Amino acid sequence: MNVMEEVDVTEKKGTLSVFEQASKMGHEQLVYCHDEATGLKALIGIHNTVLGPALGGTRFWNYATEEEAVTDVLRLSRGMTYKAAVSGLNLGGGKAVIIGDVSKLKNEAFLRRFGKFVDSLGGKYITAEDMNMKTSDMEYIGMETNHVTGLPVEMGGSGDPSPVTAYGVYVGMKAAAKKAYGSDSLEGKKISVQGVGQVGMYLTQHLAKEGAQLFITDINQERLEKVSKDSGATIVGMDEIYDVDVDIYAPCAMGATVNDETIGRLKASVIAGAANNQLADEVRHGRMLIDAGIVYAPDFVINAGGIINISSELAGAYNKEQAYSWTEKIYDTTQNIFKLADEKSIPTQDAAMKLAEKRIEDIGRVKLSM
Ligand code: NAD
Repeated sequence: MNVMEEVDVTEKKGTLSVFEQASKMGHEQLVYCHDEATGLKALIGIHNTVLGPALGGTRFWNYATEEEAVTDVLRLSRGMTYKAAVSGLNLGGGKAVIIGDVSKLKNEAFLRRFGKFVDSLGGKYITAEDMNMKTSDMEYIGMETNHVTGLPVEMGGSGDPSPVTAYGVYVGMKAAAKKAYGSDSLEGKKISVQGVGQVGMYLTQHLAKEGAQLFITDINQERLEKVSKDSGATIVGMDEIYDVDVDIYAPCAMGATVNDETIGRLKASVIAGAANNQLADEVRHGRMLIDAGIVYAPDFVINAGGIINISSELAGAYNKEQAYSWTEKIYDTTQNIFKLADEKSIPTQDAAMKLAEKRIEDIGRVKLSM
């Protein structure tokens, strides 16, 4: 696996065949699932199973083309490999995408048919929730396969991962503050939170408790007002969030908000948030952040609380305390990444990927030896 090569794939998407894309990104398997009766069309991407079974959610999306769905499942499953590896989990990376209009297609038979396909892989792929999938959908999938996670707590599952994800972002942010300011205390720090949905809302609770001064934005006005009332946060405009004079910027809504246009506007010395794929261009923007003197806590490292939570569910009976204590290790992992980035003069995103790759290589060797 090579960082530069993978970026190349993204840039040339559409011009490469499926096998060429899979080969460049290092995938093991791509499974096409089709069922005429229910209208199911799905893809299951298995990127790497050296560390363990490939875990990753199922995304239901009305992709404009099949090519788009292929690129998405390949990209997302690869991301899961890195997230699990850097988090010290014995899990590989996988993801599934279901193609079509969720409002027209999703029903019990459809989901159970998908569950059958997951089951046919014999545990090599374990599914979970992602966009447009709910806990109740997981219950239907779980009627046809045991290889499903994220079931409700009352069914022995780990339930909503967001509080644990938020806790991981919080400890990762503290590690980044320590790097930028010499202390991991967030008391009195000015912090902007973009998106106060599930993760953003829980994050503001930790930050308010520690005495941070918060600035929040969201497209959902009702939610914004509630979080502002509960945390004492100041509400700012959706575009204004990039210009607020803060110490830390926490993207917790959509990806690619760290880009050519925003880096020059940000006043923060730290970027640490929950959103996936925060850097519009992993390589170029990683370097631009170094030049701007901004400490970036890689998203896939500090937002791993959700998958860590699931790993506790997979380890046997779900244990909330165990999930939080494993998630707390994100602090040390983030610090190790900063150290490696400094030693090698590389962006923190690259350092995190290198740590993940090294673990896969090392453990792969252990598994092969007698
Ligand atoms: P969510 O949908 O509950 O919250 C997202 C919030 O962002 C919503 O309140 C939405 O109104 C707001 N938003 C959307 N567009 C916006 C914009 N342009 N400006 C400001 N706000 C905007 O999602 P979530 O579960 O809280 O996840 C937040 C992010 O973290 C996502 O990128 C998600 O992929 C990532 N993530 C979540 C988890 C998890 O456990 N939930 C785990 C890993 C990563």
